[in-house]
Amino acid sequence: MKALVYHGPGEKAWELVPDPTIIEPTDAIVRIDSSTICGSDLHILKGDVPAVMPGTVLGHEAVGTVVEVGAAVTTIAVGDRVLVSCITSCGRCRFCKEARYGLCTGGGGWIFGHLVDGLQADFARVPFADTSVYKVPDGLSDEQVLFLADILPTAYEVGVLNGRVEPGDTVAIVGAGPIGLAAIMTAQLHTPGRIVAIDLDDARLEKALEFGADVTINNGNEDAVAKVMELTGGLGADVAIEAVGVPDTFELCTELIRPGGRVANVGVHGKCATLHLEKLWIRGVMITTGLVDTSTVPMLLRLIEGGRLDPTVFATHHFALADTERAYDIFGAAAETKALKVVLQAVPVGHELIEQHELAFNA
Ligand code: NAD
Ligand code: ZN
Repeated sequence: MKALVYHGPGEKAWELVPDPTIIEPTDAIVRIDSSTICGSDLHILKGDVPAVMPGTVLGHEAVGTVVEVGAAVTTIAVGDRVLVSCITSCGRCRFCKEARYGLCTGGGGWIFGHLVDGLQADFARVPFADTSVYKVPDGLSDEQVLFLADILPTAYEVGVLNGRVEPGDTVAIVGAGPIGLAAIMTAQLHTPGRIVAIDLDDARLEKALEFGADVTINNGNEDAVAKVMELTGGLGADVAIEAVGVPDTFELCTELIRPGGRVANVGVHGKCATLHLEKLWIRGVMITTGLVDTSTVPMLLRLIEGGRLDPTVFATHHFALADTERAYDIFGAAAETKALKVVLQAVPVGHELIEQHELAFNA
């Protein structure tokens, strides 16, 4: 089969690799029908995630079809369409029993495209298949559910739920990339009073309005703290969601929050940020961090099935899986290409999607 293989910082190739096989009786082999690329894949390619060994197949988001199951797999069968999310769950450790799958100590957690071969491939070995994949309800397309593999549950669990968004709240979301936009989308499940999107890129802020933000602030040329204070009668936001991952934006969240408010950090940080305890200690501010657990995927699936959530708006570009390398170029140049999420589809050569990909590439 072919797959997108990481060969060390800056190096990747779509190339021939051995077909995956069942290693543990709890494994399944899934044919990848749709996959996508994440900002963390770009971090890996920059060399920011040294745990990823050269030779690893990248990717941790996919919808596929089960083609083989190990002897111990009982709840999924060959032919089932499944969502394979970024988090794998052993189902047995303390954290899996508490539905904190992201913290799994039994060999799960974020392993695809990180510690084991990932999902930007023709086929993948899925460990702990019974407790890790979600059957796709009949009638839903790959694209309707694909973004439940990472951005939707991440923004909802680590942003909205950790930040305890309540009806009427002013929610400030710093960063309007795929994660920030997914936070804007899922915060609305809790009927906030006002969503304020903050970003440096006007095109992203325009998207934020389309996704449901009420107010936008470009903090490159506006004082975001002053503007949030003005909007909230001098108090600050009830909830601030950090969706960038740099020290400035974390510190901004702690400045625009009201006394007793909640800062939910979602961004992955590579550098030390300053925690101004000398200002915060008296303000009763709660700060949370976390990796996604994907424990809300079944609920989000029901919302999609019920027509109450439509993540297909994230799909800005389509490519054949075999064109994953080009898809990385487009996704990696998001400021110019306006890419949010690219959809990589396994399609027979000559299929109409190839044309769509050409259109997307030439656009
Ligand atoms: P992205 O890079 O696509 O988007 C980031 C956005 O932040 C961009 O629109 C950019 O213009 C904006 N930005 C950059 N610097 C800014 C600044 N100083 N002030 C305001 N806006 C600024 O990233 P993404 O894919 O949306 O992901 C966001 C963060 O979430 C990343 O750090 C990512 O690694 C992290 N993440 C965390 C988890 C988790 O489980 N905690 C999971 C997935 C992703
Ligand atoms: Zn576990």
